[in-house]
Amino acid sequence: MKKIWLDAGHGGKDPGAVANGLLEKELVLKMQGYMIDYLRIHYEGFLIEATRTKDVFETLQGRARRANAWEADVFMSLHINAGGGTGFESFVYSQPSQASVALQNVVNQAALATAKKYGLGVHGGVANKRANYSVLRETAMPAILMETAYIDSKDTALLKNNQFLRDMSEAYACGLAKFLGLKPKTQVQNVVNGKKYRLRTGTFNDYTTAERMVAELKQKYGWTVYIEEA
Ligand SMILES: [Zn+2]
Repeated sequence: MKKIWLDAGHGGKDPGAVANGLLEKELVLKMQGYMIDYLRIHYEGFLIEATRTKDVFETLQGRARRANAWEADVFMSLHINAGGGTGFESFVYSQPSQASVALQNVVNQAALATAKKYGLGVHGGVANKRANYSVLRETAMPAILMETAYIDSKDTALLKNNQFLRDMSEAYACGLAKFLGLKPKTQVQNVVNGKKYRLRTGTFNDYTTAERMVAELKQKYGWTVYIEEA
């Protein structure tokens, strides 16, 4: 079982960056939700724990300490940039482990492909950055911090677009899955000779996730599938 720690930045008394009616602490929580949904729908053999799943405060030290105590295999911190720039970037520790460098490469590859679709560039021309950030320094496992876009520049339009947030989150999730070598959950099968086949897609713990799966199969493959109580 691979263990993923998601670290939505800020929260509670600390809103993070605030501009144009957007709060960093809310955006990263939304992205984390998209990531969890995507991973649960598409992969198996992993556990997810999160610093927070609601609007509460946690110290930087507390974030790393809890991920270490849980013995996570990977740590991803979610943030939104501020300061009037534009573009995507990610950080690993200033003296990163080889594993963190590998993590950054695989996550950024997925993220940059999605960013490009939305016309979002790379901040300062370098997507793979390094910094002496507490959560990157204090975590014992491969760790990365994502800065998806700027809250106080033309990037704001993207941050107000839920499809953009979802697509970027899914790219991050794909990167994590690839890094950890997670097993895909859904086996895509062909319909042969017009015969109907029952598709087994796994069991979900909540109805919303199952509904999302149904919608996705409809959109991607044109299949009509029904939810059954397990
Ligand atoms: Zn932040």
